[in-house]
Amino acid sequence: MITKPDSSRQPAVWQRELAASLISPAALLEALSLPADHPQLAPAIARGFPLKVPLAYRQRMTPGNVDDPLFRQVWPHALEAAPHPQARIDAVGDLAKARGGGIIHKYHGRALLITTGACAIHCRYCFRRHFPYGEQLASRRQWQDALAVLAADPSIHEVILSGGDPLSLADDKLAALIDGLNDIAHLRRLRIHTRQPIVLPSRVDEALLRWLARSRLATVIVVHVNHAQEIDASVAQALARLKGSGALLLNQAVLLRGINDQVEVQRRLSESLFAHGVLPYYLHLLDPVVGAMHFDVPLQEALKLMQALGAQLPGYLMPRLAREIPGQPGKTLYTPQGTPCLD
Ligand SMILES: *Cc1c(COP(=O)(O)O)cnc(C)c1O
Ligand code: SF4
Repeated sequence: MITKPDSSRQPAVWQRELAASLISPAALLEALSLPADHPQLAPAIARGFPLKVPLAYRQRMTPGNVDDPLFRQVWPHALEAAPHPQARIDAVGDLAKARGGGIIHKYHGRALLITTGACAIHCRYCFRRHFPYGEQLASRRQWQDALAVLAADPSIHEVILSGGDPLSLADDKLAALIDGLNDIAHLRRLRIHTRQPIVLPSRVDEALLRWLARSRLATVIVVHVNHAQEIDASVAQALARLKGSGALLLNQAVLLRGINDQVEVQRRLSESLFAHGVLPYYLHLLDPVVGAMHFDVPLQEALKLMQALGAQLPGYLMPRLAREIPGQPGKTLYTPQGTPCLD
């Protein structure tokens, strides 16, 4: 049963926190006691992708530290405006694979559903920063088009809710989607790619847990943590609740220059994820996207890092170094020997 949204109801705590996110560069600098006139801190003209950071995430930044790894993920640096010959707008070739209704079907058995363009945070390295969400997203028309595409293709066994961040959507919208997915017999797995349990841990509330319980599909939740400093007590609690729902928890991270390109930082990240019931899944090489090239770590350097990391961690705590290359049947994986890993 789909319950109608009740306009007399109070917004949930997470919705109020989301509405109160920091969007003013000056306010962020002030909150962190950083000088407004520091040369590294000239905010680029953040065209179409303004600064956005929830308080719960801002509070994990260290005041006075320009190099804070969380601050650097959200700050519109002057370098964003620097031209770069390899940078593209649609870095991963998604637009060519859009099947209508917000479905992107690139890999066998799995279809990705762009549920919304909205995120609780704006990560400066994000390849989706230029994505024309207005044309792709599926939540309009109560998911009808997306569900029709999925129902018509029995080769699809897994739906990946992506975005934006799918958990930006209100619970009643998510409920309607789950009910539709439950009815498609050939679907077995539900995957949710979300950063909200990390950047807005209050999102993992009772209503969300009820929503997860509503699905008949085996559930995998892929969160997104780039640095161990992102995991505080409130995130630990959110992850424990998600784990308690029976979902498998995985992490994807992006390899970012000056943020997590040190062996010790990656080692601590893997250890901390494991301590909170999450296994490392992917470590993505940066997609060559306009405005983000200053975060790029070249492949050869990334491979050296992986080799050193492999000497310190058990295999199950090693993320897979991956890149999305347009036209390939899956993500391309790289081993420290430099050859793509085929199995
Ligand atoms: C990354 C991605 C997937 C999922 O790939 P996995 O290797 O299964 O994690 C599916 N579809 C698209 C379009 C993707 O970009
Ligand atoms: S939360 Fe994910 S989709 Fe949203 S801006 Fe960050 S990296 Fe991009």
